[in-house]
Amino acid sequence: MLRPLDSEIASRLSKNLAIALSAVASNTSAEPTSSLASELFSPSSQLFNTLSTTEQIHASTLARTLEIGMGVRLEDVSLRWFGYEDSAKGTDAGVVGGYDVVIQKLVEEVKRLGGEVRVGQKVENVKPADGGEGGVAISTKGANDDTKPLQSRLVICTIPLSILQQTHTSLFPSPSSLSPRKTHAIINTHVGQLGKIVLSYSDAWWGTTVGAFTVLPQNDQQKPLGERKTDEKEGDLDALVRSVPLVVASFAVQPTLTDTVASTTATARNPHPTLLIYLPVPVVSQLESRLESEVGKAVHSYLASRLPTSPSQIVSMPVKTVLTNWSHDPYSLGATSTPLTIGATRAGINPTSFIDLGRPETLGVEGGASTVLFAGEHTSVNSRGSVAGAVESGIREGRRAAGLLQL
Ligand SMILES: Cc1cc2nc3c(=O)[nH]c(=O)nc-3n(C[C@H](O)[C@H](O)[C@H](O)COP(=O)(O)OP(=O)(O)OC[C@H]3O[C@@H](n4cnc5c(N)ncnc54)[C@H](O)[C@@H]3O)c2cc1C
Repeated sequence: MLRPLDSEIASRLSKNLAIALSAVASNTSAEPTSSLASELFSPSSQLFNTLSTTEQIHASTLARTLEIGMGVRLEDVSLRWFGYEDSAKGTDAGVVGGYDVVIQKLVEEVKRLGGEVRVGQKVENVKPADGGEGGVAISTKGANDDTKPLQSRLVICTIPLSILQQTHTSLFPSPSSLSPRKTHAIINTHVGQLGKIVLSYSDAWWGTTVGAFTVLPQNDQQKPLGERKTDEKEGDLDALVRSVPLVVASFAVQPTLTDTVASTTATARNPHPTLLIYLPVPVVSQLESRLESEVGKAVHSYLASRLPTSPSQIVSMPVKTVLTNWSHDPYSLGATSTPLTIGATRAGINPTSFIDLGRPETLGVEGGASTVLFAGEHTSVNSRGSVAGAVESGIREGRRAAGLLQL
């Protein structure tokens, strides 16, 4: 068990990272094939400003936490395009009651307007409707493999980029294929990886005054995972878990009398001995391939060895473990689009590719009206990879649909 980093050092590390990122983002002359890692970890990087050798290692490990939100390794991110977005700033926030509350309100509104919501229907394909009067025919499949044809004047497709990459030719079969521009953007824009594991306990054995903390690995993080001098071996769960920084959210925070902001949040009102841990890209796919209980045990043991506890504290085992499986789930196949990668850049992807991903399509009908519109995080130039991007693109395409339908 280790002591937490001194708060003055921790704040210096965070400040250095923010300054270094801002410097890197303003470098507009970088070669598209230079990586974010090469600049961020260069000896002259502001990441290491006024830090001792040990602190510099901590700074590198902290920088690796960026891979969690990005869903891609720093070595793969194209320096040329890093930070081009004009996205919402600030920290994450949760919806009180969970996202179900938002979905429920949306469903109520759709029904109030005379609409219908169907779930459990996989969209198999979308084609121009027969009869030459415009519109689209949509074929869906339910849980019992029962197909259902639908007809509509237009559709807004919010199928994730990863699924479009795998199925765009069957979703939009020839001769009503998507335009070459969109197809190119679909195939070459990178999709990232990110997972979560939730450990629930009967009692919180860790400190309950802090809602989120980061557990930095104890190896040198300047090198990509495969090249680091650790004892990690393919398939060694404990070594995999130890090799990456873990960002942990604790739901066990006890409200305090002075903590007016936290006490208004649902978590603070209903503390629960639960930890949520983000599983970053270098290890998520391997961890999601393993048994939930095994991964839970490995993450628990690691946290128990690293988090400070009082000598008399008994560290109980989790009573419930939930591990995501998004990298293999056929409806997500990973996380979201990532910052532009070197591979994508080499293939001709740039920020305008997100415009192409959101461009309406006529399904090969020459001079025809747009009948398929596209929304989803991957169609947002400024807010890709976030709920904000999904919502913003939904509003954009909703307005476009209303205009096209002359509502
Ligand atoms: C671990 C993790 C943590 C994240 N944390 C944050 C965060 O803190 N803040 C933030 O802003 N963003 C976060 N994100 C990103 C955010 O969740 C996404 O950007 C957002 O959910 C994208 O919304 P979407 O509607 O574009 O796609 P999705 O939410 O993926 O919705 C697409 C839907 O299409 C369905 N679908 C797929 N194929 C078919 C088909 N053939 N037929 C019918 N339906 C189909 C899927 O089942 C899914 O329901 C996180 C993502 C991950 C993975």
